[in-house]
Amino acid sequence: MYMKRFFQLLLVALVAISCTSQPRVKYVFYFIGDGMGINQVMGTEQYNKATGNGPETINFAHFPVRNFITTVSGNSLVTDSAAGGTALATGVKTYNGAIGVDMDTVAVSSLTEWAKASGFGTAVITSVGINHATPGCFVAHTTRRQNYEDISTQYVNSSVDFAAGAGFIMNRRSQRTPAEFEQMAADNGISIFRGPDFQAVAQASGRVLCLSGKEEQDLPYAIDWQEGDTRLSDFVQAGIEYMERNFGKKGFFMMVEGGKIDYAGHSNDAAACFQELTDMANSIDLALEFLTRHPKETLILVTADHETGGLMLGAGRYEIHPELLAGQKLSIVGVAKRFGEAFFPEDKPYKTPSWEDVKAFAKEYLGLWDTVEVSQTDEAKLKDTYEKTFGKGGNKTQGVVNLYSVNPQLVYDAFEVLDRAAGYRFSYGSHSGSPVGLYVTGAGSEAFIPVKDNAQIAPIIASLAGYKR
Ligand SMILES: [Zn+2]
Repeated sequence: MYMKRFFQLLLVALVAISCTSQPRVKYVFYFIGDGMGINQVMGTEQYNKATGNGPETINFAHFPVRNFITTVSGNSLVTDSAAGGTALATGVKTYNGAIGVDMDTVAVSSLTEWAKASGFGTAVITSVGINHATPGCFVAHTTRRQNYEDISTQYVNSSVDFAAGAGFIMNRRSQRTPAEFEQMAADNGISIFRGPDFQAVAQASGRVLCLSGKEEQDLPYAIDWQEGDTRLSDFVQAGIEYMERNFGKKGFFMMVEGGKIDYAGHSNDAAACFQELTDMANSIDLALEFLTRHPKETLILVTADHETGGLMLGAGRYEIHPELLAGQKLSIVGVAKRFGEAFFPEDKPYKTPSWEDVKAFAKEYLGLWDTVEVSQTDEAKLKDTYEKTFGKGGNKTQGVVNLYSVNPQLVYDAFEVLDRAAGYRFSYGSHSGSPVGLYVTGAGSEAFIPVKDNAQIAPIIASLAGYKR
């Protein structure tokens, strides 16, 4: 009799132990730093420590679970954002350019769909266009990432509860305008809010779309911020308040993309990259605050779809001087714009700038010939580009074209001199096949310790949170 009672109690105890050791994850935060390689993360800590432009420790870099994961796509050792995003969203490897479809172009369901089908709220947030590749993989299925109208239409007709992005991206082949898609969203019952003040969003119910409030396809670089600009953290703050109020009981899945870490990598702009990454870390602080209020039910993951730029820490010499980047006041796009205004003013007759004018410009915006010493070799190189641009028969409009911007050769060369002086060097203007980090904290984080590849993540999230697939 006593033995029977003893075994009954033992059974109760074992069940209790197994229940507490396997927490049911109710709230999932999935942060994706587009183009965020491991060197980008470490470089940001170096930069912030030296310049005071952000926290010395980047929060997620110190999460209890930290792994390297491979990012190869279904048809290349170097993935693009579409195939990378599809693997992160669905757990399926596919070809570069594919949005939520497999190698045979068949639609594969994603975390947002699994979460919704299981009764959870869903949120998709990005600092770039809502129909760009990474968010696209969480809201749509289409054969090419350039099918912007298709992705937009699918988002409008989806069941995603909360979405936030700068706007709708369109391209030359687009038949419709961003405004038409905003109207289509409104017609579908989606409440639209425009930033940067999203206070009213927390009280909203039904589907919500937050936009930056300006006509733009991506939020300004963090390094270029001006009063009145919307930040990624504004979206995330509004998203958390909305989700907690509408889905606090049932739970929710939230994807957040820091989209312009990648743009800065494509432009080979180290300081813009580091400030962009810091901006995403600021948004992660908001999720960490949520975690302190729901410690047993919240899972936070941070990863990347790929590395962009082949960023090296150390550029030839055995030293890095991140403090030399402190004199950089704007992103390469911001500096290129000022360059145009200074030397090609629309409202004044054209006057060829002198070499001294150009040097003064580089001093003002980048700190060259001021805090940053310019070697004779580098000066000769810059002067050569100056001659090719402004000299007799020079090509005043020549520029370096990358995926997201065109920057005058002279500006591009000046950035290369600055970054190299500081000890940062980009290998190229596109993606690399380097592994990226997977950083996890909160309930169930140990389940990601064995993860070695980006396609393994989504199924584990689904099983921890109990999503039906
Ligand atoms: Zn990407």
